[in-house]
Amino acid sequence: MSVSSFNQVTVSSEALQHNYCLLRSRTAPTGRLLAMVKADAYGHGMVEAARSFRGAGCRDFGVAELLEGVRLRKSGIEDNIYIFLGFDHANSELFFKYNLIPVVFDMASIQALAKESSRQNKAIGIHLKVDCGMSRLGILPEEVEKYVQAIDSMEGVSLAGICSHFPRADEPESSHTVEQNEKFIKLTEKIPLASTLIKHTANSGGILYFPESGCDMVRAGISLYGYYPDGQDGVARGKKKTLQPAMSFTTKVLQIKTIPEGAGVSYGHTYTSSRQTRLAVLPVGYEDGMSRALSNCGEVLIRGKRAPVCGRICMNLTMVDVTEIENVLPGDEVVILGSQGQNTITADTIAEKMNSISYEVLCQFGNNNQRKYHT
Ligand SMILES: *Cc1c(COP(=O)(O)O)cnc(C)c1O
Repeated sequence: MSVSSFNQVTVSSEALQHNYCLLRSRTAPTGRLLAMVKADAYGHGMVEAARSFRGAGCRDFGVAELLEGVRLRKSGIEDNIYIFLGFDHANSELFFKYNLIPVVFDMASIQALAKESSRQNKAIGIHLKVDCGMSRLGILPEEVEKYVQAIDSMEGVSLAGICSHFPRADEPESSHTVEQNEKFIKLTEKIPLASTLIKHTANSGGILYFPESGCDMVRAGISLYGYYPDGQDGVARGKKKTLQPAMSFTTKVLQIKTIPEGAGVSYGHTYTSSRQTRLAVLPVGYEDGMSRALSNCGEVLIRGKRAPVCGRICMNLTMVDVTEIENVLPGDEVVILGSQGQNTITADTIAEKMNSISYEVLCQFGNNNQRKYHT
């Protein structure tokens, strides 16, 4: 008999597909929509999420590291898989063995691929990453020409695409993205045979707020999982058709107890009851992705009503006040993320309390708990 955890993450494959189709309708019909499935698909499960997106028509997938790409390929995904975070040169052969697409940002990696290409007698297409203003990965715009010439002179390696990344596309009012996009387009125009290259730079913010930055491919992450890159502002700005959050997270009430007025709760007694209080003890804590930053400010749903967190969140336990909620019993379902009755808690509201973003909440919940999928 298999034993399952009290804590359960559920992912809706239907919501993932809805989001894919909605974003597809916002991008150029000739363009491609790459699904970013790094970080185990932002906590949604890389393989299952990729299969869902594939079912909606996706043929391009992006991951951070080589090992994720190998795992995705071995799972049976036969489409394009891009590795965005470079690789250890000793592993160059894996790009050929598993037919993976390297995104490169230094000469040594290109040379390592050229060497492996000649050893295997197999050609490989690479994408060049250019830093147009993020100051993160990528070669600088003034280096592009040198790189293009170097790649051109190498046997076995050819330039298949060129890309960049936006640091501020989640700010619809900022002119930065427009300027950066123009800079990117200008520099690609200088490359010989530019029209044969796949050019891509837009993330979710680019797709939603700067559709003109679409180029030949866009790379969606957070929006595929149902969230706007600018959080609740994005929800408020949303058109009639909106993204659907795909993840929910539930636990169960472990114990119910009544404490007198003036009782300290949890480590450090950072909460003291101001009246006789009924507490529900929940088997969830920071080990399960329920950030300690939510101590004394988080909320959960029980019997459709909001129950505030009392005191510090522990490694595996959290106390919530259920004095105002009738008939709460051990075993009752508790919603940490998602809907119950008329109420909903989103990753945006949780993130705001943690001074973070939905991305982190989804990764924390999804990658620290048992997940199940439903359609
Ligand atoms: C993660 C990532 C994206 C997706 O960003 P979102 O804001 O989640 O849409 C796009 N491109 C690159 C290179 C990334 O690393």
